[in-house]
Amino acid sequence: MANLVGSRAPFAGTAAVAGGALTALLSLGLDLRPLATRARAMRTRNATAVPSICPYCAVGCDTIVSVVDGEIVNIEGDVRSPINHGNLCPKGAATYQLHVNPNRATHVLHRKPGGTDWEPMDLDVAMRRVAALVKETRDRTFVETTADGTPLMATTAIFSLGGATMDNEWNHLQQKLLRGLGVVAIENQARI
Ligand code: SF4
Repeated sequence: MANLVGSRAPFAGTAAVAGGALTALLSLGLDLRPLATRARAMRTRNATAVPSICPYCAVGCDTIVSVVDGEIVNIEGDVRSPINHGNLCPKGAATYQLHVNPNRATHVLHRKPGGTDWEPMDLDVAMRRVAALVKETRDRTFVETTADGTPLMATTAIFSLGGATMDNEWNHLQQKLLRGLGVVAIENQARI
């Protein structure tokens, strides 16, 4: 934590100075739009423009992904789109950070029962553990009928929470699997 704070402090100071200078320039009535346009053009200069779709929600806004030497350098709304006309909501506008982000977790982390630290776990081991726990929990808690004999065929002991970046195909399979197991508590982060 000390390193993080230490490495961010100079940037915070620089940003504060830059922010003050920017405020002063704006107060003089300076039009910075040409600079913003030029900065964007420089960022995407010599980039390959790849048409894509925002992964976050069912609106399906069109995006342009700019790629240089196999690396994504920018993602923005596609002005040709009849859906979003180049606009993106704040979530979609941050799609670049979904792909290019040093803070993104790239491996499974597991905290043992009663533990206080997260530890890396092999993906295959994690998948087998999840499968085993789901089966054990479902078998132990599945209710076929209520007390008066009404068919129920469900378990309330398992909850599924999906992420907004999961696509339609994934969600379709997820629903089929979980409803087949009798899970009724199925939710998505995008609605919470
Ligand atoms: S930009 Fe926003 S509204 Fe458009 S698809 Fe992405 S999340 Fe949905």
